[in-house]
Amino acid sequence: MTTDIRITLAVQKSGRLSEDSLRLLRECGFEFNGGLASSRLRASSSNFPLDLLFLRDDDIPRYLADGVVDVGIVGQNTLVESNGTASECVEVVEELGFARCRLAIAVPRGVEYKSLEDLRGKRIATSHPHILRAYLERLKIDAHIHEISGSVEIAPSLGLAEAICDLVSSGSTLVSNGLKEVERVFDSQAVLAANSSLNEGQRELLDKMLFRVRAVQRARNNKYVLLNAPNEALDRIISTLPGIKSPTVVPLAKAGWSSVHSVMNEDEFWEKIELLREAGAEGILIVPIEKMIV
Ligand code: ATP
Ligand code: MG
Repeated sequence: MTTDIRITLAVQKSGRLSEDSLRLLRECGFEFNGGLASSRLRASSSNFPLDLLFLRDDDIPRYLADGVVDVGIVGQNTLVESNGTASECVEVVEELGFARCRLAIAVPRGVEYKSLEDLRGKRIATSHPHILRAYLERLKIDAHIHEISGSVEIAPSLGLAEAICDLVSSGSTLVSNGLKEVERVFDSQAVLAANSSLNEGQRELLDKMLFRVRAVQRARNNKYVLLNAPNEALDRIISTLPGIKSPTVVPLAKAGWSSVHSVMNEDEFWEKIELLREAGAEGILIVPIEKMIV
């Protein structure tokens, strides 16, 4: 009775992960009757056996560990922070590349800071006490961890702590609170995590979801390239643009010229464009890819 098997996915109800999580689900082709308004607490897909639950991000690891939800989209920081309770029951199945941030230690701008030794015996305010404790223990620094659940940046100015350990992306919040970043503790991004004891049917559903997620991710990281080149430049161009299997080469109406179509990774984009121009390529078009299955 495979038709009865469904999978429940937790996403953050409202916050930094919400928009990108829902966009990923839309790009994967999952449709939801009535849309995905932020006021909803749950939703069921009309074209895949998938139910969504909208939760606070801090609750997602616990729900995953308890098997209340089968999969979830959550920050690595939140997952690792809660791992005291969830580690054996929850596995990361895919890194999603959004909500990138770092957990960093910061001190007031005017304070002279040379090394971690300067934090010995000091109070550090954080909402990530487990990650911070593990980090300090590994580096043998004895400091007092002062756990608070939010607005960590103001702790030093309130006299609550000498330093903070908080999530940073651009660093502008630190600057506007008179703080400077001094140590990088943990790098984070959003991940797809799953309960490790899914049944066979649910595993199959998870694999189907992952297949779509990977096609979307791959498409985001790659571009479709079209260019014209004189035939004598083709060998160099083809070795620069190997594509998925090999590039498509079609003759142009103009004698001695061809059009080359291929796929290129976003990371090597500018470097490759230069090589292509040096080789004699002209009229280079770069087109986004919607889905990519290899
Ligand atoms: P909730 O109400 O769901 O508990 P929250 O206030 O705890 O939300 P958000 O501020 O929405 O959480 O952050 C969610 C996640 O977004 C963080 O746990 C982290 O993984 C990621 N994130 C990315 N950049 C940042 C940043 N600059 N500051 C904080 N979190 C960030
Ligand atoms: Mg939270």
